[in-house]
Amino acid sequence: MRFAERMARLGTENAFEVLAEVTRLRAEGREIISFAIGEPDFDTPDHIKEACIRALRDNQTHYAPSAGIPQLRQVIAEHIRDTRGIAADPEEVVVTPGAKPILYFAIHALVDPGDEVIYPNPGFPIYESVIRFVGGTPVPLPLVEERDFAFDAERLRSLVTPRTKMIILNSPHNPTGGLLSRADLEVVAELAAAHDLWVLSDEIYSRIVYDGPFTSIASLPGMKERTILLDGFSKTYAMTGWRLGYGVMPAALAEEVARLVTNSASCVNTFVQYGGIAALTGPQEPVDRMVAEFRARRKMMVDGLNAIPGVSCRAPGGAFYVYPNVTRACQRLGLADGRALQQYLLHEHGVAVLPRTAFGSRAAEETEEYVRLSYATSRENIERGLARIRNALAP
Ligand code: PLP
Repeated sequence: MRFAERMARLGTENAFEVLAEVTRLRAEGREIISFAIGEPDFDTPDHIKEACIRALRDNQTHYAPSAGIPQLRQVIAEHIRDTRGIAADPEEVVVTPGAKPILYFAIHALVDPGDEVIYPNPGFPIYESVIRFVGGTPVPLPLVEERDFAFDAERLRSLVTPRTKMIILNSPHNPTGGLLSRADLEVVAELAAAHDLWVLSDEIYSRIVYDGPFTSIASLPGMKERTILLDGFSKTYAMTGWRLGYGVMPAALAEEVARLVTNSASCVNTFVQYGGIAALTGPQEPVDRMVAEFRARRKMMVDGLNAIPGVSCRAPGGAFYVYPNVTRACQRLGLADGRALQQYLLHEHGVAVLPRTAFGSRAAEETEEYVRLSYATSRENIERGLARIRNALAP
């Protein structure tokens, strides 16, 4: 079958390949412990479900405005003010099916063919995919392990050219858990102002922070006008399957992004948006409990991995991922790279992790090997999975 030419430029999430492999192995009767998942293992809090059920019973089952129902846009604007200290108007908010469409639509609205977009590498693979899809040039910004997976400021400066249109940030970061400091953000802000750049700030993990503070670049002087702030409900409220997210951006851009919603999804499910209102205005204890549990698991993961010969793991500042350096383990086992290690752990020892290759093209200069483990799974699974990895990598 022949597809439109642009489809050749569209990537995907390789993580799904590993998830499919895990499903296949389990169907064959293998018992697999999975650290590959990218979603909280908690249930959506009951009061959020109840609000959605109530909305359904009240027949909130018709089309909604493309940018979201006014009450939810209002509540999000207030939430952004309370959590980031930014005065946001409801007109600057667009509600989308999950947060992912915000990056898809914002890149479509702003990036012309030939424009360069700087994005974190390793990183969420959809950035590179969408930049290429619109004909832009993806410019990877390497993250530095010694800097707890922040970027090097001089390196970032060196990547900015007259064609640069946008810098994408993701803090806390997937896959490393790295958190950007205010000083890091100030470098980006200075470059954005000097070169008239947009910043797409992916803050989907902003509520899952251990070694804060979390700072949004949109709160830095002069930055709100040039920032698209992306956040949502998936990770914070364990609502990945609800498909509810949002972006906060200058009102004129919000109108364009809403026009892209009109041309695609039309709107987010109306009753789902009432669940979003309940999430932001209701009790936050379930979120606090979830983050406290993630904090305890983070310690188990980091301590457990660092006790394994050939593995070294930094304590991530946020999200629910660790990104250990497994270079020495690969060398000792005679494995070519992190992908080979991932296959070995899955097939020989029944543990699923994600390889570095699931997080964007690898630069030639990158010599170290990494894998990503998610600790959005029970303490029991973490203990058993770590024991399997220890056994697999035993000298
Ligand atoms: N951004 C990052 C860095 C993510 O890891 C994810 C989900 O895995 C998303 C955005 C998408 O979130 P949502 O499920 O709300 O679309």
